[in-house]
Amino acid sequence: MNRFNYFMPTKMVYGQGVVKEAGAAFALGQKPLIVTGQSSARLSGALDDVLSVLSGEYAIFDQVENNPSVETVKQGGALARREGCDYVVAIGGGSPLDAAKVMAVLAVNDLDPLELYQTGWQRQALPIVAIPTTAGTGSEVTQYAVLTIEEEETKKGLRGSDLFPQVAYLDPKYTESLPLAITYDTAVDALSHLVESYLAKRATPASDFVALQGLALWGTTIPALREGVLDLETRDALLLASSLGGIAIAQTGTTLVHALGYSLTYYHGMPHGRANGVCMAAYLDYTKTVAPERVETILELLDLDSVASFGELMDTLFASQIEEVELTPETLAAYVEKAMLTNNIKNSLGDPGAEVLTQILTTSIG
Ligand code: NAP
Ligand code: ZN
Repeated sequence: MNRFNYFMPTKMVYGQGVVKEAGAAFALGQKPLIVTGQSSARLSGALDDVLSVLSGEYAIFDQVENNPSVETVKQGGALARREGCDYVVAIGGGSPLDAAKVMAVLAVNDLDPLELYQTGWQRQALPIVAIPTTAGTGSEVTQYAVLTIEEEETKKGLRGSDLFPQVAYLDPKYTESLPLAITYDTAVDALSHLVESYLAKRATPASDFVALQGLALWGTTIPALREGVLDLETRDALLLASSLGGIAIAQTGTTLVHALGYSLTYYHGMPHGRANGVCMAAYLDYTKTVAPERVETILELLDLDSVASFGELMDTLFASQIEEVELTPETLAAYVEKAMLTNNIKNSLGDPGAEVLTQILTTSIG
């Protein structure tokens, strides 16, 4: 008998022009804090659309960096409090979206961001509207927010049901301004969410349903990704696949790939999706030994005949982008040790130990 929960409280409004169409209904309160990165909200046209439907006052924090820091969310939270904001509008990739979620918490909880990891928070975060401009993280439909924690030299996720945005507006047009390299990085992040969710110990029939649909949809974009020419239809498929990936990991969490990827991002500056992508073929090779049918299903949906073909696809997408990463035995051991401390390992099929992680990282980076 199946037993599982399925919780996804975010209202998704999907399609071209949805922000403008929302009109006055877009506002969830009197005064929003708008949270963006440095350029993408303007470049994508999303900020203009948001401003066109807001009639009253707003405050704006437009300095979220990639892989947001504790200091950034502290500043944004303080701004929201100072300005008396009563909801948050997040526009951008996963970095602004995640930072905005934590600012929504800090706006109503007088805490240091690091305390959120230790004690949680009492008062519900301000309501959040999320507008993704990348097709990758699915943060617009998850209860997660990932920050860089310098003290622990890693990235770490917070989770809370109030971190699910209340509404997500998804317009593929906003992803058209993405340069090709970021398109690939983020598309592969979406792929890794779909793959890891389907291979997670916590996978359920409902999460599988979502992940499998997402994988099939992602598979349709492979020819365009290989060619490097993406029309709006492909952008549409990637954005939807990315949201399906978010819905799937909201149920299951991610696995060892994300745990290893965090060190590649923290220590080597590798973009999040790329850091996952480089580890994925070796992860599939390992998982084939414990769940061969599941890996086979993934390959079939992507229309790839083997794990080697999967690896070749990653190599093609990242051809000129993979920086030379040299890992000494000591750094390798340190990254594995860090990854072993995460729940992602407990969520990976086959109960992988440090030797398996070492093997995966060595094969991926070697
Ligand atoms: P990102 O770090 O938000 O953005 C990467 C770059 O893309 C930035 O320079 C950004 O510009 C630019 N960009 C974004 N949208 C653009 C557009 N439409 N046109 C042109 N440039 C654009 O990238 P991301 O991969 O979406 O997010 C990664 C973060 O999300 C990581 O911190 C990761 O850990 C986290 N994450 C969260 C979840 C979750 O469930 N919460 C899941 C997976 C990953 P700006 O400088 O303007 O921002
Ligand atoms: Zn991710």
